[in-house]
Amino acid sequence: MNTDPRQELGLVIDPKTGELIGRHPDDMSEEELRALGHGPDLPLDCIRAFCRTCSNGSVAEIRKCTRTTCPLWSYRMGKRPAVWRRSDLGAAARAARNTKIQVPAEQAAGAIRAPS
Ligand code: SF4
Repeated sequence: MNTDPRQELGLVIDPKTGELIGRHPDDMSEEELRALGHGPDLPLDCIRAFCRTCSNGSVAEIRKCTRTTCPLWSYRMGKRPAVWRRSDLGAAARAARNTKIQVPAEQAAGAIRAPS
């Protein structure tokens, strides 16, 4: 059981099920996210932070990680692998990431969404 009172900021009751669930980050203000310790870090920084936790804080252990099937493995050094940085595939991924996504009006207005 988590006793950190800050965690409640990130939780909501699902109106469909009555279950306590995590809020969608898109429905939270900057202040709420920062109060939970979440800043505007790049996803690669988040992966690196997760790997640091997984490796008990050891940067050397992240470097030596042998779990090659982990979905984060090729990003564990906190950057995209050189082959993707150099290739057209990397450029295509960046272009796809920068493409605007259509957001439904009620979602854009900040309505709390139920889990899918
Ligand atoms: S890549 Fe390795 S260190 Fe990072 S989360 Fe996966 S298993 Fe842990």
